[in-house]
Parts: sequence; C-alpha cells; structure tokens
Amino acid sequence: MPVAATSHAARVIALLEAREGAYLRRLRDLVDTNSGLDNPAGRLACLKQLERVYKMLGFATRRVERPGMMVHLVAHRPARGVMAEGAPKVLLLGHFDTVYDSTSGFLSLQQEGDWLHGPGVGDMKGGLVVAQAALEALQHVGQLDAFDFVAVHNADEEVQSPTSRDLVEAAAADRDLVLDFEIGRKTGGVVRSRAGVGRYFVTVHGRAAHAGMDHAAGVNAIVGLAKLVLAFDALQDPALGTTINVGVVRGGVKRNVVPDEARAEVDVRVRSLAEVARIEAAVAELARSEPVPGARVEVVGGIGRPPWVRNAACDGLIAHFQQVAAAHGIALPAEDTGGGSDANFTAALGVATIDGLGPVGTGPHTHDERIRTHTVVERAKLVALALLAWRETGGVATN
Ligand SMILES: [Zn+2]
Repeated sequence: MPVAATSHAARVIALLEAREGAYLRRLRDLVDTNSGLDNPAGRLACLKQLERVYKMLGFATRRVERPGMMVHLVAHRPARGVMAEGAPKVLLLGHFDTVYDSTSGFLSLQQEGDWLHGPGVGDMKGGLVVAQAALEALQHVGQLDAFDFVAVHNADEEVQSPTSRDLVEAAAADRDLVLDFEIGRKTGGVVRSRAGVGRYFVTVHGRAAHAGMDHAAGVNAIVGLAKLVLAFDALQDPALGTTINVGVVRGGVKRNVVPDEARAEVDVRVRSLAEVARIEAAVAELARSEPVPGARVEVVGGIGRPPWVRNAACDGLIAHFQQVAAAHGIALPAEDTGGGSDANFTAALGVATIDGLGPVGTGPHTHDERIRTHTVVERAKLVALALLAWRETGGVATN
C-alpha cells in the first residue's frame, strides 16, 4: 500500500476500535426503532438518526418526500480545498426500512456472545453504522475532504424501491464508485453479482354460477389459474439461473360455487438481460391468454430490479477491496447471490459497484437475523482503508 495510506491506516484502525462501543450503541438505537412498512413515524426516526451524523460530518442533507409516507435521505459532501483535485466520487447506499412491521413482535436488539440478534441488524442497519463509522475515520485522519461523497438512504427498499429508484440512479450517474452496505455474507464475503428480481400479481376473472343447477354458465377461475400456475412454472430455466416461484394462490368462496376469481403471486429471479426479455415477453403472452374459455387474465408487476451481471468495472473494485483486506489479514471472498438490492440499479448502469459491505451475518428477513458483533468495526476499517488506498492509486490495484 502507498506510504500516505499506510501512515493513516494505523490511526483509522485505532479510532474505530476505540469507538466500537459508541457504534454499537448507535446500532442499538436504530434497531430498537422499528421501521417496517406500516411504521412511517419509526422510519422517520431512523432517518433523523442518520441525518444527525451526516450533519456532524459536514454533509448537506435533504429529505425527499414521496407517496406512501415514504421519506428518503440524500446527503452530499463535496471534496474540499487542495484535496478536491482528482477526488473520487463515491455513492454510499443503504436502506433504513426493514421487513418487520411494528406488529411483528421482533422489535429489539439482543447481544448473545459475539452475536447481535435483532430486526434489521444485518439488513441493513448494521451496514448504515459501518458506512458512517468509515466516514468518521476518514474525517479523523483529515481525509474526508479528499472524496466527493453522496449517500442515498431509502425507506422502501424492502418493497423494491418503487419511490426511490430514481434517486439511486440519479445519484449513481456521475459516480466513480458505489458502495452498498447490505449484510455481509456468512462466509465473510461481499457480493459481486445479483439476480434480477421480478414480482407478478396474477388474477383470473371467471364467472360465478351454482355448481349443481347452473354449472355450464360458470367460468372456473381456479381452473384457469391452475393452468397459468403451471405455465409460469414452465418458464424456469435453472441452467441459466432463471427461477420462478409461485408463492401464493387464493381463490373461491364455497365448494358448490363456480369461483369467479382466483389470484396468484409469483417471484422471478433472472441472471441476464436476455432472460429478462424472454420472461417479460412470455408473461405478456400469458396475460393475453384465455386459460379456460371465457376467462380473462390480469397481470400486474414486472422485473423491477435488473440483474447485476458480473463486469470488469465491478470486479476491479471488488479486487481492490480484496487486496486491502488481505493486507490486513482479512479474507474477503466474493459471491453471487439470488437476492436483489439497490446495487442492481447502479451495476446495471455500468458504475463500479460492490455490495455486502455491512457486518457479516445470517438470517435476514427471519426472526433469526443476526450479525457478528466484531465485524461492525472490521467492515468500517475495511471501507475506510480501501477508500484511502483507492484515493492513492486511482483505483489501480497495488501489490
Ligand atoms: Zn432485505
């Protein structure tokens, strides 16, 4: 590693280790503040906690209000003074909503040995604390001015970012690097590619009739839906990484009534843009079909997150992080995952992106969600040191 980065490294490490207790308290405050889909007040409280730290770091902050009581946070701190020349433009991504509603019964952080267990502790409030800790470490060594930072923290990622995708994409457009702080893999790894993710809500409209007296007058929506379920299932292509999961079906009111309506919810994961096109075309065809005579099909939804396909820009950034990690004795494998995140948007725009920079953990979206406590500081070190090294080398990997 170059000399200047090396001289800062020891101070970065010392500061982050000394402040571990403060970061864990900050994490507890965020986790104990429920920020589920049903809790706009809780989400706003989380936003305010993040905003307070950005203000202390000299960021200009902006709340962006969107439909559905969604308020997102955008923070910007341009490079300053003599260090502005050649400053890398960095986007920090992280959402503060979680999948746990205020009624989930899973509402607070528990410490169990070297584990922290709680709602959103990995997905992804731990990552938000990591990002801000790394910034504080850069400030501590006088290097915050050497970067142009934008942070976008959204409130609707768990429902596929419908009101914040444009903020993420607009912020990414002029960036050199995107760091997304989703939960680190249980191997300790980061993420180098993600599946594209789609959701379809399918309704078959039939016609109700008495099952005995008037059966011929009915159009059985359940039978129509059953045929569509099999048609969706047949669109899978595991060899290409395309999976389809019909996860929910509902329909009918009584045994002796021809059902006039049936619904299904379908999850789609794809690994390539060609597969996005194939699935979208096939679903459009199904939407125009008549699965049983007289039935009408309605399909809402689509592939809302494009696939993040591995590419040279992202792989180069990940290799840089791996080199910095190795220099500090940390193994940092890179993994492909079927889960989507906002990094899908930035990687699909061609901006160098790394994800999974949050603390190492398991069980996101379950009541067993947990992270390794010591990895909060470990990840913050990695991010601060990798940024310093990137600034030194312009992203050219060092040996
Ligand atoms: Zn999630």
